Amino acid sequence: MSDIINQLKKGIAEDNIKINHSLASYTTFKIGGPADIFLSPSKIEEIEWALEVAKKEDINYYVLGNGSNVLIDDQGLRGMVIYLGENYTDVKVNGTNITAQSGVSLKELSLLALENNLTGLEFAVGIPGTLGGGVYMNAGAYGGQLGDAIEEVVCIVQGNIKTYQKDSIEFGYRSSTFQKEGAVILEGVVSLDKDKHTEIKKLMDDFTQRREDKQPVEMASAGSVFKRPEGYYAGKLIQDSGLKGHKIGGAQVSTKHCGFIVNIGNASSNDVKKMIQYIQQTVKAKFGVSLERELRYLG
Ligand SMILES: Cc1cc2nc3c(=O)[nH]c(=O)nc-3n(C[C@H](O)[C@H](O)[C@H](O)COP(=O)(O)OP(=O)(O)OC[C@H]3O[C@@H](n4cnc5c(N)ncnc54)[C@H](O)[C@@H]3O)c2cc1C
Repeated sequence: MSDIINQLKKGIAEDNIKINHSLASYTTFKIGGPADIFLSPSKIEEIEWALEVAKKEDINYYVLGNGSNVLIDDQGLRGMVIYLGENYTDVKVNGTNITAQSGVSLKELSLLALENNLTGLEFAVGIPGTLGGGVYMNAGAYGGQLGDAIEEVVCIVQGNIKTYQKDSIEFGYRSSTFQKEGAVILEGVVSLDKDKHTEIKKLMDDFTQRREDKQPVEMASAGSVFKRPEGYYAGKLIQDSGLKGHKIGGAQVSTKHCGFIVNIGNASSNDVKKMIQYIQQTVKAKFGVSLERELRYLG
């Protein structure tokens, strides 16, 4: 381990390397044990170096954005976590385009669009992820999705920096080319349109209000746990299965939105996993519908 750390130090600032570092506070679920090695790179060269060392030493690595769509095991993660969050947030506006590093939050990005009278990111204002996580997941809400705004993505695939133009990226429902390729997303360019500030703001306020009315935004969760099954809403199926408020350990089906599982205090990763299984079995038995997980398990 100390040999790996010494190698990492050759290409990554010491302040950006932590050992046996707890991950719970890096997730919106507030769940997860420690990472053997936790890196928070601040430039591309540091990310490239981390990947090179991981490959050379044959150790696992995990990429983490704002941790708003992941469940990390209580045992933590062996190998290294590359956290592309608050240390990796350069952003610039160029006409109707915004170029941002992957750690920029979707909230900041959409507010920057508003500030510059640019429309196209209103849907993203309440999604608590980063640009990198949002592109990877093709995050979306209220009829919008990141894939529609993206013009270009720069990432590392199998050790090489690669630039994808819009036409060469496949975005599906909560899926993207980058999941299939195991890409580490470095940067994205979103292409927006000019509009009136008041119109953009009105739409954002409306989406924010709708979210606050319907979702347990004040509680620890990872958003909608399941993808929307064709022809149904996961939350409604779960509610109609009688599971509203159902508890397993510290995990509870939200009483405000049954598509969310909330951490009501010291939920373990196992509590959440058991709850997910229980929901899937119950909904399948009652309605014959298989709920597919949107939440990603790390570790
Ligand atoms: C209250 C709440 C509301 C939510 N509402 C919505 C919603 O309306 N719509 C929606 O789509 N989602 C929603 N989500 C889920 C989540 O916010 C999105 O999926 C978001 O895009 C995840 O971004 P992140 O940075 O948190 O990614 P993380 O959770 O950190 O990671 C998610 C996945 O992306 C990968 N990843 C992250 N960054 C990168 C990168 N730079 N390069 C390569 N891979 C990367 C991770 O390895 C992981 O597999 C919500 C979550 C919460 C808690």
